[in-house]
Amino acid sequence: MAKVSDHIRQANGKTIFSIEVIPPIKGDNLKNLLDNIEPLMEFKPPFIDVTYHREEYIERVEPDGTVKKIITRKRPGTVGICSAIMHKFGVDPVPHVLCGGFTKEETEDFLIDLHYLGIDNVLVLRGDPAKPFDTFKPKTNGYAYASELVTQVANMNRGVYLHEGSHAMTPSNFCIGVAAYPEKHFEAIDHDTDFRYLKLKIDKGADYIVTQMFFDNQKYFDFVRRCREAGITVPIIPGLKPLSTRKQLQVLPRLFHLEMPADFVKAVEACEDDKQARQVGIDWCIQQCRELTKAGVPGLHFYTMGKSDNIVKIAREIF
Ligand code: FAD
Repeated sequence: MAKVSDHIRQANGKTIFSIEVIPPIKGDNLKNLLDNIEPLMEFKPPFIDVTYHREEYIERVEPDGTVKKIITRKRPGTVGICSAIMHKFGVDPVPHVLCGGFTKEETEDFLIDLHYLGIDNVLVLRGDPAKPFDTFKPKTNGYAYASELVTQVANMNRGVYLHEGSHAMTPSNFCIGVAAYPEKHFEAIDHDTDFRYLKLKIDKGADYIVTQMFFDNQKYFDFVRRCREAGITVPIIPGLKPLSTRKQLQVLPRLFHLEMPADFVKAVEACEDDKQARQVGIDWCIQQCRELTKAGVPGLHFYTMGKSDNIVKIAREIF
């Protein structure tokens, strides 16, 4: 299979269509996820990202009334879904690989499995704090920052594994993507600090960047300009999510630390129901995509969040 960086190169300046999918809730059917991807094949995505969801700490009330603390993973299956995507659609999967919840050795095992499966792409992330906590804590002997995990993957690509034995080690062949935030990562004290650490991820071996969603293209354009000024030369793929309910006007800025443009807020607030809001979300995203494509972005990366009908409508206008 091929690397994301090769797909971008082979597109020869043409904007690529790609998506991110989320594993189903534990126990749900994989078929629903694959059925949602199917209509998007019309737009020939060369790669599909699959998110990773770390463990959560929940409290369960037992029949006898006692409360039991449980560690669970609500959305397991990232590697299995990647494999299903490869086999069903012949598309390169991009599993997300997290620092959170992993020791370095567990990360190595995970990467070895991906390598054996012929998966040549990873999106390397720190991960969010384990729910219900609000600060990120690395596992003992794990990583605190994505840049450290990038180093481990880049080392494996050079045949350098942890605690090496005496025999020759087979190099992996991962293309490494990392995340970035046009409106700043919420923990960073300022944009300059955030840029410094983004640059570190690239210097350690990342090949491309995917951005957090944004609703104001100017934020993306300013971000790319500042990256280039800082000497970051890798492709920067904009991440996009069409708004789909009126409630998301509050939920998305809170969850993803972004601002909605005043015109957009006004248009959504004028909607009488979610059906109208979904259409406003589609129309806004189409405008964003037209402008971004015209500006020559390497790709448009859509966060599907389990639904594809709105992405199909947008992609039909653009690709
Ligand atoms: P990092 O690059 O490590 O940065 C985290 C913070 O630390 C930033 O504020 C940065 O400025 C700062 N920092 C970085 N390095 C240093 C340093 N050396 N010293 C001090 N400060 C430093 N989460 C999931 O759980 N699963 C997913 O599948 C997932 N997919 C995502 C996909 C995309 C495209 C994006 C944009 C985000 C995704 N996330 C996912 C969310 C992501 O895990 C969170 O945003 C997380 O809080 C930060 O991850 P990061 O890799 O950007 O972290």
